[in-house]
Amino acid sequence: MSAPLFDAHNHLAHSALGADRTAINRSLVEIGLHTAVVNGTQPCDWPQVLELAAQSPHVLPAIGLHPWYVNSAPEDWQTEFLNALANGARAIGEVGLDCWIEGHDLELQLVAFRWQVAQAQARNLPISIHCLKAMGPLIACLPQLELPPRGFHLHAYNGSVELIPQLVERGAYFSFNTGQLKPKAKKVRQAIQAVPADRLLIETDAPDMLPPPELREFELTTGDTVLNHPANLRQATKPSQTFGRLISRHKPPKSRGTSSASSSLNRNTFTSPASAH
Ligand SMILES: [Zn+2]
Repeated sequence: MSAPLFDAHNHLAHSALGADRTAINRSLVEIGLHTAVVNGTQPCDWPQVLELAAQSPHVLPAIGLHPWYVNSAPEDWQTEFLNALANGARAIGEVGLDCWIEGHDLELQLVAFRWQVAQAQARNLPISIHCLKAMGPLIACLPQLELPPRGFHLHAYNGSVELIPQLVERGAYFSFNTGQLKPKAKKVRQAIQAVPADRLLIETDAPDMLPPPELREFELTTGDTVLNHPANLRQATKPSQTFGRLISRHKPPKSRGTSSASSSLNRNTFTSPASAH
């Protein structure tokens, strides 16, 4: 039997997946999904995340105000956030900083980000962080923040190799998805190899981050749109594929026990700040 798999970051509660939910769940059982950290992005999707977690032991519910939605968030979003925490959310995400999106307001994003990190720190909850074209502001604000002792998680890491040691020092875990592995994505390949084995996680970000066709074991379409099926997580672990080969080059950390039932990859996922909760 193959080892259980952990998806460090996805959006299983996304409305685009609603119609296919039963079939998707069957596929996730087929691949041996143990746990997925299912992220909300704004108050209107937090109830769906919590509902999914109530229905499935494989869902670890995360709630967060994504930087794309800080401009349009309702005034009482913090009250709703605290309610969602009281109602079973076990991680904070997806939160972060984004200077790529049109019309971004970095100052407003920083206010929302700092407040959400403070909530995570107060409860020692894991945080799933999105950072796009904003690595400078993130690096600048991290030393001013009190972070949860269990660490934080940079999802779909796209920063430089040079920044990895100082992020590790601050408690960062890093996850990557196969959708990041475009043929010319040299930086991502180098980053996967530079992250220490006990800080490396895999994710799908499904239904986003559609992998290239050769890494799509499961197809999912709504209307004319091709989506990333969350069960494509399994392809990320195949050493016969580039992504899996990069991941499997990592030796398991020496301090951890070995088990013939799980690969180094899966032992790494056990150390996820999210899955350890
Ligand atoms: Zn995401």
